[in-house]
Amino acid sequence: MYDLIIIGGGVAGMSASVYASRYKLDHLIFGETPGGQGMLAGTVENYPGYVSLPGPELMQKFIEQVKNYGVEIKQEKVGGFEKVQGGFEVKTDKEKYQAKSLILAMGASYRHLNIPGEEKFIGRGVSYCSTCDAPFFKEKTVAIIGGGDAAITGALHVAAFASKVLIIHRRNEYRAEPAWVEKMRQNKKIEEILSNEVTEIKGQEKVEGIVLKNPYKGSQGFKVEGVFIEIGQVPSSVLAGQLGVVVDEQGYIKVNPGMQTNLPGVFAAGDIAAIQGGILFRQFITAAADGARAAASVYQYLHQGKVPAPSWEAFK
Ligand SMILES: Cc1cc2nc3c(=O)[nH]c(=O)nc-3n(C[C@H](O)[C@H](O)[C@H](O)COP(=O)(O)OP(=O)(O)OC[C@H]3O[C@@H](n4cnc5c(N)ncnc54)[C@H](O)[C@@H]3O)c2cc1C
Repeated sequence: MYDLIIIGGGVAGMSASVYASRYKLDHLIFGETPGGQGMLAGTVENYPGYVSLPGPELMQKFIEQVKNYGVEIKQEKVGGFEKVQGGFEVKTDKEKYQAKSLILAMGASYRHLNIPGEEKFIGRGVSYCSTCDAPFFKEKTVAIIGGGDAAITGALHVAAFASKVLIIHRRNEYRAEPAWVEKMRQNKKIEEILSNEVTEIKGQEKVEGIVLKNPYKGSQGFKVEGVFIEIGQVPSSVLAGQLGVVVDEQGYIKVNPGMQTNLPGVFAAGDIAAIQGGILFRQFITAAADGARAAASVYQYLHQGKVPAPSWEAFK
């Protein structure tokens, strides 16, 4: 029986592994796609210590660091869990493994529109993260699709760099906080296109334009160099339900600031986790910090009596 099994080979899982190694916890990582979402990031310019580097290169550094501690990253898909005497059983598409504790770091994926051109231009003008990619659109015209807080705050963030921002929302009112909407409406660079949808993203090598479902100002085609799709994320937390781990209404695993779930011995980290009372911020740096905290909490959990584990109840 391992001390710990980490499910997830993204930033959170890798960071948890580095710390688990330093705590001398005997552990394994399962990562169906080693590197996770980081492999999709074009250029990363907000991870401290690196001015600018491609996402896959950053993830390769995480993988090297994990392997340097002699930890195995198993490229197996975890299909289920079970509580067993003294811990948990993890079933993959190949084998069964047991551990005294688990860190769930299965991440999340950005919701896609599934329209022509979207997949083709990911990283070449199509982005799902305005916090990450806004600076790449200096003095350009871009479209932002969505109507929630992420879309509105994203529009404001992008407008600090772009020359013009079209915010396109399929309804005639936003889900975002009214205070954000008011702030956006004061920004002269942002133009609203409501009750409309983008049906296609066009271009040759990179994004050159969008097509709208309904005519706007007499036209359905608009020239843009970037399209931010900010319509939410889907956490990969379905499996967590098998264990009885509590998730919030959007499916994110509820954790306390020690990354502990409601279930003793089960921790969660990264994009899949929602720290109760914390702000929603899902980035490389937050995933890395979550992973480190989760590993420290596992160490405390396994050495209970010596170091008390933080209580879930305290943060309910
Ligand atoms: C295109 C793009 C660009 C981005 N750019 C930036 C940026 O510039 N800066 C920034 O800070 N953030 C950026 N982000 C956000 C950042 O990538 C994420 O916040 C971060 O990678 C989350 O890491 P994670 O480890 O929590 O999850 P993920 O990276 O999603 O990793 C999840 C891991 O779990 C594995 N997994 C899931 N289910 C199973 C299963 N059943 N069995 C086995 N393995 C499983 C996956 O294969 C993967 O290895 C970007 C995201 C995207 C998509």
